[in-house]
Amino acid sequence: MKIAVLSRNANLYSTNRLVEAAKERGHEVEVIDCLRCYMTINPDDLDMHYKGRELIGYDAVIPRIGASVTFYGTAVLRQFEMMGVFPVNESVAITRSRDKLRSMQLLARKNIGLPTTGFANQTRYIPDLIEMVGGAPLVIKLLEGTQGIGVVLAETRKAAESILEAFMGLGANIMVQKFVKEAGGADIRCFVIGDKVVGAMKRQGKEGEFRSNLHRGGTASLIKITPQERETAVRAARTMGLNIAGVDLLRSSNGPVVMEVNSSPGLEGIEKATGKDIAGEIIKWIEKNAKANASKTKGK
Ligand code: ADP
Ligand code: GLU
Repeated sequence: MKIAVLSRNANLYSTNRLVEAAKERGHEVEVIDCLRCYMTINPDDLDMHYKGRELIGYDAVIPRIGASVTFYGTAVLRQFEMMGVFPVNESVAITRSRDKLRSMQLLARKNIGLPTTGFANQTRYIPDLIEMVGGAPLVIKLLEGTQGIGVVLAETRKAAESILEAFMGLGANIMVQKFVKEAGGADIRCFVIGDKVVGAMKRQGKEGEFRSNLHRGGTASLIKITPQERETAVRAARTMGLNIAGVDLLRSSNGPVVMEVNSSPGLEGIEKATGKDIAGEIIKWIEKNAKANASKTKGK
């Protein structure tokens, strides 16, 4: 097969591993920087060019679109879809997963465990909103944040009110969430491919830190997950319409709750923690599932 890896940087661990795994399994593979693609849109002739040449003949595209290039990256991916190329994750599913509120709403509709989450647009409703999610302690999140930046723990109602007022006063979009204290500063990353969790790791925040992000000094280790956690992760990925996903769970006293469903989950942490060839699993999944003109984004 001829496979495109849509990634801005060929030197990233994840990109590198996907290229290596595709080559190992006898495929032709190229890393394509979405920002260097340009295209024409017209009813009978869809064209995409890359650094001055035409992109043709691809069977599958693996999107690795960073959060900062979601808009242009998903447009490029959509163009591949229109041209009939099989997307490992579809553009609509990526866009959906990048909107945390939208994701939470869809997951809740499918009865997937979540920490009670609230959001509001006007500061005058803050006290009532805090009441609605069950009072302090509360976690407050900037919707635009990643890697744990913009995630704050408010221990008291007063603190929650002032932090929310400050964020909202700056025009930021925020959500508030019940604090899952019993998770003990740890979360579980489940790496989902198709309808299976192919690897799971526990991330533990450093001493005194409730955020488990590796970027915030957390450490990863191998973990055995329960059947309920496995099912929650697979259902969460399916609800988002993602074939490949990193589903982050917390162990709450009411069972697993989903924090986030990541459409471009990193490979380094999970491959190192599990010792598994996750990149190879992705390529194998593509071999089994890639079909031309399979994308729903075409609006059929
Ligand atoms: P980001 O997308 O920036 O990583 P998250 O929503 O995943 O933000 O939050 C970062 C980390 O903070 C999580 O991995 C988790 O360890 C911790 N955390 C977030 N929300 C809660 C919560 N409601 N209860 C307990 N811990 C939480
Ligand atoms: N680097 C990945 C991304 O940009 C996120 C890493 C992860 O949380 O798996 O989507």
